Amino acid sequence: MIDLEQRYFSVRQRISTTAQQLKQDQPCLLAVSKKHPADAIRALFQLGQRQFGENYWQEAEEKMQQLQDLDIEWHFIGPLQSNKTRAVAANFAWVHSVDREKIAQRLSDQRPAGLAPLNVCLQVNIDDEDSKSGVTPEQLLPLARKISGLPRLSLRGLMCIPRAGNDPAQQQRAFQRLAQLQADMKSELRGSNSAVDTLSMGMSADLEPAIAAGSTLVRIGTALFGDRQKNVTNPS
Ligand SMILES: *Cc1c(COP(=O)(O)O)cnc(C)c1O
Repeated sequence: MIDLEQRYFSVRQRISTTAQQLKQDQPCLLAVSKKHPADAIRALFQLGQRQFGENYWQEAEEKMQQLQDLDIEWHFIGPLQSNKTRAVAANFAWVHSVDREKIAQRLSDQRPAGLAPLNVCLQVNIDDEDSKSGVTPEQLLPLARKISGLPRLSLRGLMCIPRAGNDPAQQQRAFQRLAQLQADMKSELRGSNSAVDTLSMGMSADLEPAIAAGSTLVRIGTALFGDRQKNVTNPS
């Protein structure tokens, strides 16, 4: 676990150095644990990490059972189908990947009464890629208005996954567009009781341009845990 400790330190260092240079607040670090075993999550928790992100309900369920004794804040960040909304609404504190009214409605209806409202971000397909989920910028404000009225959801902000590549300037422009959309959404929802305060953007390869554009939460997998494994639920 020495490796994990070093990687955790170095990711936190990247985040704090970048934020300091830009004289900005440090974004929250979400550790993306998809395709990594419960042991790795436990080890990172012991180093002080509390927020973890998962993409697939089946995989998350197994790990949550093994980690019940830990006070983890779970974030769902993957594509969400209707038949998984009940489980997600009951087991996660956040969903970053909402992009349809129907899914939002189900999450609100199914959020258990004893829990605080489910925090959600709307996913925006910021580079208009066929392969990516998310709403288009044009669809965003109408959807945000509807979702802000759902009683058991708290609309917290926006999430994006820009086009992969090695052009930081281009990525930063995508992140800046998301920040602008966030500002538009905030003024659209002024007067409602939505606390729009979260820009979920930045991953292992692009956390610096994301922070430069105002990210408040970076989602980091590979830089923390190393390469993802093929099969974590049934290790052979
Ligand atoms: C896998 C994933 C991440 C983490 O990506 P890395 O490049 O491994 O840091 C972040 N966000 C989402 C939505 C993901 O699916």
